[in-house]
Amino acid sequence: MNLLVFVPGAAALLLTALEMPRKAKRVFFKIPVWISSSAIAVVVGIVGRGVLASQTGFITELILFPGLHMAKKHFLWSEARLVKKGKKKPKEVKKMEPDFIIKVGLNPGDQRVCDYCNTDLVDGEATVTKECHSTEYGLMCSKCLGSIKPISSHKEGENVANETWYKEGIIDES
Ligand SMILES: [Zn+2]
Repeated sequence: MNLLVFVPGAAALLLTALEMPRKAKRVFFKIPVWISSSAIAVVVGIVGRGVLASQTGFITELILFPGLHMAKKHFLWSEARLVKKGKKKPKEVKKMEPDFIIKVGLNPGDQRVCDYCNTDLVDGEATVTKECHSTEYGLMCSKCLGSIKPISSHKEGENVANETWYKEGIIDES
C-alpha cells in the first residue's frame, strides 16, 4: 500500500482543525463530525483515486473522524475557557472603578455646577438657578444631558436641599 494515501487525511485534518481561524471553527464544528469528515473524505477520495490509490478516501475518513472528534473536543474546551475569562473581566473593572470617580467635597453654602461644563446650576441656598438633572454620571445641565436618562430633573427656582444627590456631596464637618 502506498503510504501517501495517509497524506490527504492528515493534511485535511491539519487545515480544518488546527489552522482554521476561531470564527471559522465555530461554524465548522456546528456540523456533526461524521458529516464533515465524510464530506471531506468523499472529496479526497474522488481526487485521490486517480492520483494515489483507491483506498485514499477510506483512509482519509479513518484519520479525519477520530481526529476531528479530538479537535472539536479541544476547541469546545478552549471556548469554555474563553467564556470563563470573559466572565472574570467585570470584577476587575469594578475594582478599578474608584480610581475613575472624582469625588468633590462640598461645604454647605457652596454653589453646584454642571459636572461637565461648570455652568452654575444651584446657588448657595440650594435653590436651582438653571434647570439641572441628577444622573448616574453626576449633576448635569440640560445641554450636557443629551440623551442620558436623568434620575431626577429640577426646574429653576426649585429648592433641592433635601435631594439625596445634593446632600451626598456635602461634607458634614460637625
Ligand atoms: Zn453642562
